[in-house]
Amino acid sequence: MAYKPELHFLVIPLMAPGHLLPMVDMARLLARRHVKVTIVTTPLNAARVSANIDREIQLGSPIQIQLIRFPNAGSGIPEGHESVDTLPSMDLQGNFFRALCLLQHPLEDLFEKLDPTPDCIISDRYVLPAADVARKFQVPRIIFDGTSCFFLLCNHCLHDSKVYKNVSDSEPFFVPGLPDRIEFKKYQLPGAFNPNAKNQGLNIAREMVRESEGDAFGTLVNSFQELEARYVQEYKKVTGKKVWCIGPVSLSNETNLDKAQRGKNDSNDNEEAGHYYTKWLDSWPARSVIYVCLGSLNRVTPEQLMELGLGLEATERPFIWVLRGAYKRDEAEKLLSEDGLEERVKGRGILIRGWAPQVLILSHAAIGAFLTHCGWNSTLEGICSGVPLITFPLFGEQFYNEKVIVQVVQTGVRVGCERVVHLGEEEDFGAVQVRREQVKEAVEKALGEDEDSRRIRERARLLAEKAEKAVEKGGSSFLDMSLLIDDITQHVKGLKMNNGAKSHDSAKINA
Ligand code: UDP
Repeated sequence: MAYKPELHFLVIPLMAPGHLLPMVDMARLLARRHVKVTIVTTPLNAARVSANIDREIQLGSPIQIQLIRFPNAGSGIPEGHESVDTLPSMDLQGNFFRALCLLQHPLEDLFEKLDPTPDCIISDRYVLPAADVARKFQVPRIIFDGTSCFFLLCNHCLHDSKVYKNVSDSEPFFVPGLPDRIEFKKYQLPGAFNPNAKNQGLNIAREMVRESEGDAFGTLVNSFQELEARYVQEYKKVTGKKVWCIGPVSLSNETNLDKAQRGKNDSNDNEEAGHYYTKWLDSWPARSVIYVCLGSLNRVTPEQLMELGLGLEATERPFIWVLRGAYKRDEAEKLLSEDGLEERVKGRGILIRGWAPQVLILSHAAIGAFLTHCGWNSTLEGICSGVPLITFPLFGEQFYNEKVIVQVVQTGVRVGCERVVHLGEEEDFGAVQVRREQVKEAVEKALGEDEDSRRIRERARLLAEKAEKAVEKGGSSFLDMSLLIDDITQHVKGLKMNNGAKSHDSAKINA
């Protein structure tokens, strides 16, 4: 007999791969725990995740996608662009935020139509109208945080102490109130403390988002206790908020097909590509190949790309290098072909120009290190693969994530990036931040034979085991998801009792 779910969660992701993919993973995990889940997104975003959702439905999970139109008209974003990674220009980030705000009425209409009525909304912190919808229909709103408790606590302590206000851009300072002595320079901080000079719209949006967080029921974090227990405890303590750590959610992709098709709209194409990379990786010894990917929004300059490529060549090791991003694509291709690098590394180096099946590649035993921009999803996916990370942070909170890896859990090495380069401001910071020699040196530290390198690799291997255990039945993340479901169940029961008491009282008055 089919199990009838007692709860219905409405899940509203932000339209960007780094936000959409983990929320869909999280939604599938919830649906496997017999919670009905409706994911609401736009057609082009749905196309990126529908293969994996369809398979989840076939397996019997009570999950569905509901489509809403992306408000191109009214937001100034051209038709055909529904996600941050496909924006024709990063100057449109403020418009993108405006588009999100225009979703309020469509979301309200959808909420009213859904049957059964959702008991709760889980929304990305940047989808502001979700707060108004939750208020209007009097259901709890939970913020899905695509980052770590280290990030949340660090932000809290910086806002609280304002220590960053009294230092120059390049002066190192310690963040007060953290469990470890963590040092930053102001120009390594995310936009809230180190604003994008060119994008005032985004700065205002950030402040609005922060203000709206106060009335949320709690925060779901894609992290796990064993990774950052002291940061989780401290964050709960200083804010008094409900926090559930339920990650790493990418581990919900258990089969090769799920891993291969995650996030790609042409899923057949990706399945074939997945086979090709798997076969190629099969031909290399365990833990020998470097996987290099700088995320879905990567906009490093063509000159920097060339330096990175030449550094990889100099390692004389096998590698898979994902050259994502439309930014100055033609220039980058021209530099590459004039140099002849691709030809020289043929056989031991693969260059991927489209969407890479990252989770599939990282799960292969031949992967030995991951050179990453430290987006939080990539950071976690790297942790799950059990290999050392070579950290190449670019923007946003990525310098925080580098600290988690290099200093807190010590499973990686820095390539040596010095400062945040805000999206859309790449021209203002000089063409090359990291030289080829730095790339080679970092790779040697991660994969070399000296004692320090071996220790880093051993810690990475052990951390992956802990990540795996966290999401297994009875693990810390599994139990936190049970707690979340219990908390909402209790909330719903409380509401029913209150409503019952109210109607009982009014019956008495009417009698
Ligand atoms: N990703 C992928 N293939 C690509 C680029 C990215 O599968 O070619 C996935 C990656 O596995 C991760 C997400 O997209 O889950 C990117 O999120 P992250 O937080 O690492 O970085 P962002 O792209 O948001 O900067």
